[in-house]
Amino acid sequence: MSRKPARLRRTEAGIELWGIAQVLLDIEGTTCPVSFVADTLFPYASRALGPFLEAGAPRREEVRQLLAAVHDAWVRDEDPAGRRMREQDPEDAVGYLRWLIKQDRKLPALKELQGLVWAEGYRSGELVAPLFPDVADSLRRWHAQGLGLSVYSSGSVPAQQLLYQHSSAGDLRSLFKHWFDTRTGPKQQSSSYEKIAAELRHDPAEILFISDSAAECLAAQEARMVVLFSDRDGNPQRDPQGLTAVTDFTQLTFQPETDVNSTP
Ligand SMILES: [Mg+2]
Repeated sequence: MSRKPARLRRTEAGIELWGIAQVLLDIEGTTCPVSFVADTLFPYASRALGPFLEAGAPRREEVRQLLAAVHDAWVRDEDPAGRRMREQDPEDAVGYLRWLIKQDRKLPALKELQGLVWAEGYRSGELVAPLFPDVADSLRRWHAQGLGLSVYSSGSVPAQQLLYQHSSAGDLRSLFKHWFDTRTGPKQQSSSYEKIAAELRHDPAEILFISDSAAECLAAQEARMVVLFSDRDGNPQRDPQGLTAVTDFTQLTFQPETDVNSTP
């Protein structure tokens, strides 16, 4: 019977990892403050959606189709009191969209419209994604060490790429080789991590996954990935549930050997 190699050891100086070839990273609460989404992105979408639609965007075929889908939903939708949304303010599609944003309702057409509005905000420089101060240098160092870096986030792949393109540390997209969103599967399901390992062409035990969600970490661990719980300021979930927690990426050192027990 083969002994399961140890991959991770907590030391005085930080956390040592052995035989890791790939690092898979969550975004919110791991590389970027959770508050960016709640306090910046959503209010921005709410504010900028009206001007975006008035500025001629609806002439774009893509936007026209999304608005038609929104209109469909609007006609059928009811507020929590059972009143038809359409009848309350028949002219105000933007008002309806804002109401959906406030309710955090996941209408696919709204999600796509928000994505277009954010893309404009990033392009104009009004939106910049703040990364935790240790993140960019750590990613560059890991990349230079030959580690493969990938993203797995519930935001869509285009949204992930916009965020890293317009980060507080500049355009970091070239550091990442693979981008995964929930089209690969739910983040709390171990089969999603098996799929990602297959896509990365690595044994899951050679992949380190970092996330601020203990449930996601446990799912990745079930798929045999090495996991670290991201414990950052402002995270809603601070209980590592027995997992090893990392508060700053500079705590991590990577060793090429596959087994902690093989070193003196
Ligand atoms: Mg997260």
